[in-house]
Amino acid sequence: MVKLLGSILSLTITSSLACGVHQNLGAPYKQFVEDDIIYNSDNSDHRGWAQYLAKSLHQSNKVVLTYDDGPHPETTPQLLDTLKEHGVKATFFAVASRIEAFPEIAQRIVNEGHILASHDYTHINSNTRSESEYFENLEKSILVVKNFYNQKHAYYRFPYGAYGRNKTYHQFNVMRDVGKKLFNENCINFAFWDIDTADWVSNMEPKDIAQTIDSHIFGGTAYRFVKKSVGGKTKYVKEAFEIDQPVGGGVILMHDIHQRTIDATKIFLKELKNKNVIFETLDQVDEYQYFSKVCELVAPLF
Ligand SMILES: [Zn+2]
Repeated sequence: MVKLLGSILSLTITSSLACGVHQNLGAPYKQFVEDDIIYNSDNSDHRGWAQYLAKSLHQSNKVVLTYDDGPHPETTPQLLDTLKEHGVKATFFAVASRIEAFPEIAQRIVNEGHILASHDYTHINSNTRSESEYFENLEKSILVVKNFYNQKHAYYRFPYGAYGRNKTYHQFNVMRDVGKKLFNENCINFAFWDIDTADWVSNMEPKDIAQTIDSHIFGGTAYRFVKKSVGGKTKYVKEAFEIDQPVGGGVILMHDIHQRTIDATKIFLKELKNKNVIFETLDQVDEYQYFSKVCELVAPLF
């Protein structure tokens, strides 16, 4: 995982576009590719994700649980059981080829009221893909998800959060084209995250993940990943750090392919509910609204 910290785009607010109490957020549709920009990897404003945070959730005590990289035949059903037990809905950024491998789990995700979203067709860093490969994989992944999740929301998360570093094309231009081909409209809504749990780091314990989330909301000791060289090999390990100015809410990044993440979910759901934290889904968040967009598929499902 490489943090691609980009510069924050200056927020241009027009009163006609700003929405209600959140007028300081800038225009809606922030998580959609802009219609009138030709994106270019050489432009530092066209990279990074600081400008795509879910700012409406900051300091709100509200979080959105997102789980990437599944479905996994063992861990994802356990997670679904846990979420059901607590009456909490989540968003699953699934790898579409894994949906094809485990369709019954994808169906269960949707049946139980969660959002199924795309994490591309295979988990490859798109900065290393050709433009045509990226187009085909993105298109296929959206169609695979739509086979199960028949809502207008087409949420997408870049594997590794990586984009904007390919010298031959920019992923946003392709994303807009795929949206227009599939929906006759710019309908793919991309999601980054506000709270990174580092749950994929092998020496993270379930209690470390739960504590990291708690500290991002309320402050305290959290864990992040650091790169270390061990015996000439690169390894990622956890590192404790203090948060004294917590973000206080946001989209939480996790992965439902690790047992430790499922065990952590059991811990933090209980603890955070006792602290009056509210669990929302992506489609309830200001930045992820579709407003007047219709987004009905015009391309055939296969
Ligand atoms: Zn991933």
